[in-house]
Amino acid sequence: TLPFDVDAVRADFPILETEVDGHPLVYLDSAATSQKPRAVLDAERDFLERANSAVHRGAHTLAAEATELFEDARVTVAEFVGAEPEQLVWTSGATAGLNLVAGSLGYAGRLREGDEIVVTEAEHHANLIPWQELAARTGARLRHIPVLHDGTLDMRAAADLIGARTKVVAFPHVSNVLGIVNPVAKLVTLARGVGALTVLDACQSAPHLALDLPASGVDLAVFSGHKIHGPYGIGALWGRDEVLESLPPFTTGGSMITTVTLDEAEYLPPPQRFEAGTQPVSQAVALAAAVRWLGEHDVDAARAHEAELEKRMREGLRSIAGIRLLGDTDAAERVALQAFEVEGVHAHDVGQFLDARGVAVRVGHHCAQPLHRRFGMTASVRASAAIHTTEAEVDTFLDAVAGVRGFFGVDA
Ligand code: PMP
Repeated sequence: TLPFDVDAVRADFPILETEVDGHPLVYLDSAATSQKPRAVLDAERDFLERANSAVHRGAHTLAAEATELFEDARVTVAEFVGAEPEQLVWTSGATAGLNLVAGSLGYAGRLREGDEIVVTEAEHHANLIPWQELAARTGARLRHIPVLHDGTLDMRAAADLIGARTKVVAFPHVSNVLGIVNPVAKLVTLARGVGALTVLDACQSAPHLALDLPASGVDLAVFSGHKIHGPYGIGALWGRDEVLESLPPFTTGGSMITTVTLDEAEYLPPPQRFEAGTQPVSQAVALAAAVRWLGEHDVDAARAHEAELEKRMREGLRSIAGIRLLGDTDAAERVALQAFEVEGVHAHDVGQFLDARGVAVRVGHHCAQPLHRRFGMTASVRASAAIHTTEAEVDTFLDAVAGVRGFFGVDA
């Protein structure tokens, strides 16, 4: 493990040398997609240059090498979340993983009229619409745990909502708008008490928190590679052995079978049962490089660095007049991700104003329309940091935000 040195970390990211309109890039949009260190870019290219070929097939040397690298990547990424390789299903990303789970439960006839699916008011659409579809097709009822004014979940309502009819409880580990770490253990206890399946959306926690999915108590979890400094087009679904074994495949085709006749097919056990078709092999290999790269840093020191950034960002925003924060609480653990509104200025205008100063933030509803509606907004500005973000960058961002209302003439 290296001592934590943000300058050394930054040197691994070629893109951080970019200038925007003569300003050094201040990339505060890692929650949308993260930047890739050289080790990840090299791993993908190296695989394609030296080992590229179809996995799990073919008697030739390259095929064996590619298969080994692909399956080694599964071991590495499984370890990253505290799991066994057999419990890790490659997907194209979190969205695909959540559709797989909802679709498979539907195929299995595990939900009926009168059953209930519980989500939160703070879902990314990827952990909402698949459940809406499942509910619509099965007659199940979709319910939600409300978000309180400070951005935390209404756990009293959760205890009332989760009951004998509840079959699934799906929730984000960290909301991509609020940055608040949700009480996983409490939700798991409520769900387990009624025999409901738990599905964790770990997209926004995986880049920042050490994950031990088996110990977390959830049954299934998803995350995306591109948010943890890995490539696009790769992610994973993790599941407990017995849970994965109980699910039928959602996508079918090649590479997931033992015997096929013209009338029927027998399937391989998990994880292959869920991996029909040609897999994103070079991306899996590069994702393994990403988690190895993350693992080279002192996790506690990196977490402490990000906690400092979080504090600086939130306190700095709080001290600027006319800023309204979403999820402004000290009562919960948080990641360095903050959404806000500048009163009187449209989020898109704020985004353009910041961009002209080299500061890249996200504007819009961040695929969480119901949550914005809950706060009486249609759009917000979101700044999200990563392991490579510096305090000076946060200050550049804060200085720029402080100039927004004056520029747009809404100070008076
Ligand atoms: N859930 C959360 C909390 C997210 O932040 C995202 C990405 N914005 C997703 C799900 C969907 O991830 P992907 O688009 O990589 O499938």
